[in-house]
Amino acid sequence: MATQAAESVWAETMKMSQVYAPTLRENPAEAEIASHRLMLRAGLLRKLSAGIYTYLPLGYRTVRKIMQIVREEMERIGGQEVMMPVVQPAELWHETGRWVDYGDEMMKLKDRHSREFALGPTHEEVITDLVRSEINSYRQLPVMMYQIQNKYRDEIRPRFGLIRGREFIMKDAYSFDRDQTGLDHSYDLVYQAYVRIFERCGLNTKVVEADAGAIGGSDTHEFMVITDAVGEAEIAYCDVCGYAANVEKAVCTFEPSGLAQETNEELKLVDTPGQRTIEEVSAFLNIPPHRLMKTLIYKAGSQVVAAVVRGDHEINEVKLARALGVLEVELANEELIAQVTKAPVGFAGPIGLADGVPIIADLEVMELHGAVCGANSADQHYRGVEPGRDFAPDTVVDVRMVGADDPCPKCKAPLSVASGIEVGHVFKLGKKYSQAMNATFLDEAGQEHPLVMGCYGIGVSRTAAAVIEQHHDKNGIIWPISIAPYHVIVVPVNYKDQQQRQAAEDLYRAVEDLGIEVILDDRDERPGVKFKDADLIGIPIRVVVGKRIGQGQVELKLRWEDEAEIVDVNTVVGRIQSILR
Ligand code: ATP
Ligand code: MG
Repeated sequence: MATQAAESVWAETMKMSQVYAPTLRENPAEAEIASHRLMLRAGLLRKLSAGIYTYLPLGYRTVRKIMQIVREEMERIGGQEVMMPVVQPAELWHETGRWVDYGDEMMKLKDRHSREFALGPTHEEVITDLVRSEINSYRQLPVMMYQIQNKYRDEIRPRFGLIRGREFIMKDAYSFDRDQTGLDHSYDLVYQAYVRIFERCGLNTKVVEADAGAIGGSDTHEFMVITDAVGEAEIAYCDVCGYAANVEKAVCTFEPSGLAQETNEELKLVDTPGQRTIEEVSAFLNIPPHRLMKTLIYKAGSQVVAAVVRGDHEINEVKLARALGVLEVELANEELIAQVTKAPVGFAGPIGLADGVPIIADLEVMELHGAVCGANSADQHYRGVEPGRDFAPDTVVDVRMVGADDPCPKCKAPLSVASGIEVGHVFKLGKKYSQAMNATFLDEAGQEHPLVMGCYGIGVSRTAAAVIEQHHDKNGIIWPISIAPYHVIVVPVNYKDQQQRQAAEDLYRAVEDLGIEVILDDRDERPGVKFKDADLIGIPIRVVVGKRIGQGQVELKLRWEDEAEIVDVNTVVGRIQSILR
């Protein structure tokens, strides 16, 4: 017996009375941002545990459409879809040192034999293990594989619904090339695919230079959705030349004043009872914050260090970690601060710290003259501080956070700073994993080389939320057609009215016959309730069948427009088709 080809995975029609989309009239208290609020209210999502969610039918339809776009664009650049295990043995992670380095974000478990495993937060180790057994010749390169899968990260602060989950859907891809030129090419292909993916999802993204972070590697870019509502990542960008970077990475332009100003001011100890913060000390001594020094004590691996920036600047912990050659730095606790500064919190300074505590000073600190800093003594500060004369930093380097109005490192125009959501990330990993895990190939001459690797992620579930952040109004979601759970909703004003009911059902079938995804609101609800739900869920096209059907007319309303339009019932299907095209 011949088996039939699988039908389309999409149910093209649905009756509203049957849709499992429990909408909520009230805003859920736990939801701080629009996407989280609207996904709960529109019945797209339900929470099981912190950062762990069930996607309800409408929400999952949108997620599947995003996955489909991702698949099409990844296949177009030669990506091949695989499915790797979620459960990963600890030994693999020991090979790269990441069992420890990845830290508490990794969800760990043991099997019945006490063997350790992780729930995959990412898959560099697994894929490298896969290819090292099978790839041995340059003839097998390049290769790019990807998967779409749940990832597990025990985030410190799961929040904002799908934006920062502990279980979330990621598309992760990995490329293997024979050399840097090959990697550059693979990276460009994925970069361009990402531009298309986000465009097709209706997202406006900004690509920024990023810090390579704990994963290691060199070139890396992030795809950011700029939105003030979600301060998950800060971006510095220049409207003049187009420079854009994560603030963690953004270079602070430094121009030495060249004025090796001599001060005659002497170092002087002054009492500052109870004055701990920059604001307090500045007000108390009547000296502006930019003439103060801010000193913070950090733990960096096994080391304790003091980082110093100007009082009006912020320390950039990512730059500090880079300067110290560690993965992460951690602010010291009160006890350690007391040990290192011999003073309570609030009076740290670079002069007279405990022995063996290196001082990392920002470039701008060395430009200060007659400055003020904590005296490492309770309730006291120094005035008249002369860096170089009164203390000698071990390292002088850019360790501050860029700010709005800082000059652009490329063109010197003032930078802007905005916050955003990272939806995608591309990385040139190079040989980091292939070397650690001994994944090599032989070239034409029989020489052995490590594979050159790239990795590329898209937060699929986060993307769904980011789209809502960019596309909503006070009434609900405004889905772009490309990822809307359904395209059309047909709403009879009074479903009990025979004529309206018949016309609505006819329309529903006519649309369905064209393969358009349509919902019929067959509920015996007041029209206001039905309109509210349709707006909340964000169906792009609404057709209302009311009394005018007597004159052969229906109302057509696009979710992103304010006004409805009266349309002849015989032409409405054609109109819908042309809108969807
Ligand atoms: P973040 O800085 O936001 O924590 P990351 O640098 O840890 O992100 P990657 O390891 O590059 O993220 O993961 C690839 C993509 O997965 C990210 O670009 C993001 O879109 C998504 N992602 C990362 N963490 C989460 C999370 N906790 N919840 C939802 N999506 C996430
Ligand atoms: Mg992270």
